[in-house]
Amino acid sequence: TVVVRREMKKSGRWAKAMGIVKEFEEKCATPIGKLRQVADAMSVEMHAGLASEGGSKLKMLISYVDNLPSGEEEGLFYALDLGGTNFRVLRVHLGGREKGVVSQEFEEVSIPPHLMTGTSHELFGYIAEALAKFVATEREGFHPPPGRKRELGFTFSFPVRQLSIASGTLIKWTKGFSIEDAVGEDVVGELTKALERVGLDMHVTALVNDTIGTLAGGRFYNPNVIAAVILGTGTNAAYVERAQAIPKWHGPLPKSGEMVINMEWGSFRSSHIPLTEYDHMLDAESLNPGEQIFEKIISGMYLGEIVRRVLLKMAEEAAFFGDEVPAKLRVPFILRTPDMSAMHHDTSPDLKVVSRKLKDILEISNTSLKVRKVVIDICGIVATRGARLSAAGIYGILKKLGRDSVKEGEPKPEKSVIALDGGLFEHYMKFSACMESTLKELIGEGVSGNVVIEHSNDGSGIGAALLAASHSHYLEA
Ligand code: BGC
Ligand code: MG
Repeated sequence: TVVVRREMKKSGRWAKAMGIVKEFEEKCATPIGKLRQVADAMSVEMHAGLASEGGSKLKMLISYVDNLPSGEEEGLFYALDLGGTNFRVLRVHLGGREKGVVSQEFEEVSIPPHLMTGTSHELFGYIAEALAKFVATEREGFHPPPGRKRELGFTFSFPVRQLSIASGTLIKWTKGFSIEDAVGEDVVGELTKALERVGLDMHVTALVNDTIGTLAGGRFYNPNVIAAVILGTGTNAAYVERAQAIPKWHGPLPKSGEMVINMEWGSFRSSHIPLTEYDHMLDAESLNPGEQIFEKIISGMYLGEIVRRVLLKMAEEAAFFGDEVPAKLRVPFILRTPDMSAMHHDTSPDLKVVSRKLKDILEISNTSLKVRKVVIDICGIVATRGARLSAAGIYGILKKLGRDSVKEGEPKPEKSVIALDGGLFEHYMKFSACMESTLKELIGEGVSGNVVIEHSNDGSGIGAALLAASHSHYLEA
């Protein structure tokens, strides 16, 4: 009877754990009808954000980029790409229409975590030093002509209120950054001061968001690129808007008639977005409570953390990993999205990747095959919701531009290429596959095949260099 009782207890716990998974799955559901509502809400908010400053949760920031690369760009330019856990410094040699990008060199430097929450002085000082070291590796013949400064395109992947193409104030930090004294400051000013401190004579010619850089980089290779989306540590989108359709723009009408808009879709929010208790807790305990809700259920910084929270609840309430709650499971952000992805893609018969990850990261050993399968299911639920919602976001942009379907009495819309970049998109294959198939599901038959997702590998750095070139200080007016 002791054995029987133990078995009953076990099956009771299992049922309880499965109940938690089932409820989570139901709350995360994203049926196509719901995705259409999300897309509608996205396009409504886009209109509102363009109408007036502060008119929507979507900031719809004006980038001051009214001319995307033409392919004529020429010369030697630097770029600095800051926005995730690493930053990159690049040197790009542009050869004009004939030669395109002649060469590019880059170096990636990781940011010590304490600098992400320290002071502006320290962060920009660290970056300036790395940049100075990189410039010192400049080869013979690659120096700027006499009397000219080196020029830099600065990709800064946070919400910035642009004042011009080469200046702008930080609205707020996102992702893992929180440096109070930088908020409200001109980030180009901060960088320039740091460059002066290390004795680097360089001119910041363009300040761009990573979405804008990716759009510019994508357009350089493909004239049909109309939008760019980042699915990485954070998430965001930018697209080309008609200047006439931006009521809040009071500046001169650009010659091109166009203006690139940085949507900052990470801060999108709608009652149609499925949120669970885990999301609410994650948000409440985050560096930026109440903000970046869309980002918190889609992007790479958070997906693994959501999985951890579900597993913790199962451990606490249904003894899913045995009598004791594994201590490591209580550590925020210990389960990173790349590890979640590795588990999700495990196809070995005994799920040994899952077993190893649980052991190495969470110190949970001797898991049964049954338990490992459930862990994969949870990864699947979290990744699917994020991927389907990002597809809905893209569909929302296509709707706003009237490129989502063939309208009666109107010609079929032109080809729409969307440049995608970011580690989540690039490395989490089940996520990107789900995002792309969901987008196909959403768009009208008439335009399917007309909407194309293109991976723009590291386009944001090159894009910044291209924009530095087209906005060069030394261009003849
Ligand atoms: C930032 C955006 C950025 C995105 C992707 C978000 O957290 O707010 O400016 O484009 O991350 O890097
Ligand atoms: Mg990349």
